[in-house]
Amino acid sequence: MATEHYMDVVLPIPLERFFTYSLTAAQAERLQPGVRVAVPFGKNKLYTALVYRIHQTPPEVYEAKPLHQILDEAPIISPLQLRHWEWMAAYYMCTLGEVFRAALPGPFLLESETLILRNPEAEVDEQALRNPEVVVEEHGLTDDEFLIYEALQHQEMLRIKDVMDITGRKSILPIVNTLLSKGVVRVKEMLDEQYKPKMVRYVDLDSRYASEMALSELLDTLSRAPKQYQVVLKLFQLKGGSDTPVKAKELLRESESSPAIVKALVKKGILKEIHKRTDRVIYSGDAPIAPMKLNTFQEEALKVIRENFGKERVTLLHGVTSSGKTELYVNLVAEELKKGRQVLYLLPEIALTTQLIARLQKYFGEKLSVYHSRYNAQERVEVWNNVLEQKSKAQLIVGARSALFLPFRDLGLIIVDEEHETSYKQFDPAPRYHARDAAVVLGTFHNSHILLGSATPSLESYHNAQTGKYGYAHISRRYGNVLMPEIELVDLKDKIRRKRMQGHFSDRLIEEITETLEMKEQVILFQNRRGYAPVLECNTCGHTPQCPNCDVSLTYHRHKNQLRCHYCGHHTPLHTSCEACGSFTLDTKGFGTEQVEQELKEFFPKVVVGRMDLDTTRGKHAYQNIISSFESREIDILVGTQMVTKGLDFRHVNLVGIMNADALLNFPDFRAHERSFQLLTQVAGRAGRTEKRGKVIVQTYNPYHQILKQVSTGDYEGMYREQLYEREQFQYPPSHRVIRITLKHKDFNKVNEASAWLGQALRTAFQFPILGPEFPPIARIRNQYLKNILVKIPRDYPLSKTKKGIKRIEQSFNAIAPYRGVRIIFNVDFF
Ligand code: ADP
Ligand code: ZN
Ligand code: ZN
Repeated sequence: MATEHYMDVVLPIPLERFFTYSLTAAQAERLQPGVRVAVPFGKNKLYTALVYRIHQTPPEVYEAKPLHQILDEAPIISPLQLRHWEWMAAYYMCTLGEVFRAALPGPFLLESETLILRNPEAEVDEQALRNPEVVVEEHGLTDDEFLIYEALQHQEMLRIKDVMDITGRKSILPIVNTLLSKGVVRVKEMLDEQYKPKMVRYVDLDSRYASEMALSELLDTLSRAPKQYQVVLKLFQLKGGSDTPVKAKELLRESESSPAIVKALVKKGILKEIHKRTDRVIYSGDAPIAPMKLNTFQEEALKVIRENFGKERVTLLHGVTSSGKTELYVNLVAEELKKGRQVLYLLPEIALTTQLIARLQKYFGEKLSVYHSRYNAQERVEVWNNVLEQKSKAQLIVGARSALFLPFRDLGLIIVDEEHETSYKQFDPAPRYHARDAAVVLGTFHNSHILLGSATPSLESYHNAQTGKYGYAHISRRYGNVLMPEIELVDLKDKIRRKRMQGHFSDRLIEEITETLEMKEQVILFQNRRGYAPVLECNTCGHTPQCPNCDVSLTYHRHKNQLRCHYCGHHTPLHTSCEACGSFTLDTKGFGTEQVEQELKEFFPKVVVGRMDLDTTRGKHAYQNIISSFESREIDILVGTQMVTKGLDFRHVNLVGIMNADALLNFPDFRAHERSFQLLTQVAGRAGRTEKRGKVIVQTYNPYHQILKQVSTGDYEGMYREQLYEREQFQYPPSHRVIRITLKHKDFNKVNEASAWLGQALRTAFQFPILGPEFPPIARIRNQYLKNILVKIPRDYPLSKTKKGIKRIEQSFNAIAPYRGVRIIFNVDFF
C-alpha cells in the first residue's frame, strides 16, 4: 500500500490542539513547517492555517480532509520563531492558535470570501449583449442587475467589492440574491489573497535593439513617426548606457509624450513593459549622519553594558531623564548594523514617538523600518517580508510590542526602551504577553544582546539587576550637566483653608505659570483624567448618573455636553435635572483635562492652550499635529493625561505642573505607588532640558506621602526598598508570581457559582495563597459580570507544572454542564 501523507496545522482559533489534513505525495514533498495553507474547517469555511508538522500517521477520531491550497512557496515563519510562539502560549496560558492570530499581519490570515460567477446556462449570445434591452427583457433585470451581468460577460468572477464599485451601492446583497434567484449568477466561497504588492510599471527597449547599430536602424525607420522617435531617443538617453529599465511615468514626463504613443511602441514590440514590486513606505530623507560622540558618563555606562553583553547577560540601563540613553542606544545599534545583523528597538507606544523615529532616522536613514498596529496592513506585510528576506531596509525595526512577532533571522540586538511602561503588557485579547519579557526570551533564542532602558526601572527589572540576574549600568547625570528640575510640593488642604485657590490652581502654580510665560518659556500641566469632570453628583439626593451597561459612573464631557462611559462608549446628552429626584442641583465632582483647559483660558485669556488626551488624538495625525505645534511654540501651555509623560523632548518647557497627585497614589492596585513614582518622575523630567533649571509643582492633599518625597528628592533606591518590602509582605511580584483568573458571563448568579467552584478547586489543589473570587471595582462591563481569582505563586515553586495543574482544573470546569458559556481568562504576570 502506498504511504499516506498528513500534516498537522495550527488554526488561528482558541483551541488547544493541532488539526490534521491529508496530503498527496507531491504536496508532502513540497510543504515545510512554517508555510501557510488554506484548509476547510467547520461548515464549509476556509481558513488560513500554518503547517506545523508533516507525517504519515492518520488521525484517530476523524477522517482527514485534503488541504485546499498552498499559500506560500517557502516558509514565512522560521523554526526559531515558532519555538518562541510555543513558549509564549505555554507561559501566558493561551493556545498556539491565538499567538498565530496575533502574530501575523491581517492580510496573511485570509478567510473565505464570496465570489460571484456567471451561470453558464444563462449565457446569451454576443449580439444580444450589444443590445441590453434583450437581456433585460429576457431575464427581467433591473439596471443594477444588468451592470453586474454585463461585467460577468467580460470577466470570470466578481468579488463583493467589485460589485459595490460597479453599482456604486453599499448594500449589494439584495441584488446578488435576486440575480441568484433569476439563475443569472452562481456564488462560490474562495480565499482571497488580500495582500497586493504595489506594482510600478517600467519600460525598456526590446533586447533586439540592444546594439547601437540596431538602435540607429530603428531610429531611421521611426523618422516618419516623430513622436515615437522622440520616445525611443529619450529612453536611450535616460538609460544612459545601463541595462536597467526606466519608470514609465518618468519616460512620459521627460519625453513629453502621451501614454498612447508608448502603448503603440509596446504593441509594435519595440518597447517592452516590466512590472516591478515596490514598497509603499520608502525613505527619502537626507544621508545618515554618524552617531554622536559620547561623554564620559555615557562611555562608562557603555563599557559596563559591553562587559555584560560579553557574558551573554541581559543588561538594565538606568539613566535619569535626559541623561543621553537614546544617544547611547544609537551607538550600539550602529555597531550591530555594521556587522550586518538585525536590530529590534521596542517602544511602549509608537503613536507617541514620532519624535524618536525622526531622530533615529537621521542616523539610520533607509535601514530603519517602523512596525506597529496603526500602520496599514499592506505596509505591515511589506515590513514582514523585508525582515524575512533580511533586506537591509528593514535591518533596524522600531516598533511597538507586536514587532516581536516579525520573522527575524539574525537578531543581534534588542533594545527595550522605557522598559517600565505598563503598556508593554497586552491586556486583551490573548496572548496577554509582556513584550519586555517576551523580548528577553526571544533574544535568548537568537543569542542577541538585550538592553532594557529606563529612568525609572520597573521593580521587577531592578530586582533582577540587584540579584545579579541582569547586568546593571547607571547614568546619574543629565547630559551637558543640565540640573534635575526642582520639585515643589504644594499642600492643597492648606491652600483651600487659606483661600489661596483659583479653581483647581493654587496660588503657587499660578505664580509659576505667570513667571514662566513671561520668560517666554512653555508649560506642561498633567492631570490623569480626561473629560471635564469625571463625575456628576446631585446635591439634593446624592445620585450620580450611571452607565446602563457597566457598573461605573458616566463622565461629563463639556465640549460635547455629553455624559460618556469610558468602558463601553455609551453616551447620552447631559440632563439639566437629576434623573432620580428631578431637582436642578447637579454638580461636578473631581475634574479632568478639559476643565483644566477651560480654567486656564479664563485665567490666562491671551495664552494659547493645547490639550493632549485620548479625546483630542483620535485622528491618524492628531498626535503629531499637537506635538509639532507645541514644538514650534504655537502653543504655550499643553494640558494632558499621561500621554504628555512619554518620551517627549521639548526644548523650551521650563515648568511642569501636576494638578493632583492623589488620584494616582490612591489607585486601588498593588503597583499604584511604583507607577506614581514612575509617572511623576517621567513627567517632571520634561522640565528644563536646557541650561536653565526646570521647575515642577506637585499639588496634593498629602504632601507627606512617602512616594511624593521620594519623587521630589529623586530617591529611586528608597522607593525600591520600601516597595519591595511591601510586595514581600503582601505576596506580590517580584517575590511572587501572580496569575489573575477572570470569569465572565452575563448571568450574575452563574458567575458567582462558577467562580466559587473554581476557587475551591484551586485551594484544594495548591498550598499557595489564592485570593477571591472577588468582584472587581467595576463588576460589569458591556453587560458581562466579572469575577476575579488571584493566584500568587511563590518564586521557588515549579512554574510550568503549576500552570499545567491550573489548566487541568480548567478542563474539569469545562466539563460541568451548568458552567458552560462562562469564559475563563488567564492573565499571567497580571498588571
Ligand atoms: P534620554 O534618552 O536619557 O532621555 P537623550 O538621549 O534624549 O536622553 O539625551 C538628552 C539630550 O541630550 C538630547 O537632546 C540629546 O541630543 C543630547 N545628547 C545626549 N547625548 C549626547 C552626546 N553624546 N552628544 C551630544 N548631545 C547629546
Ligand atoms: Zn437628585
Ligand atoms: Zn459602559
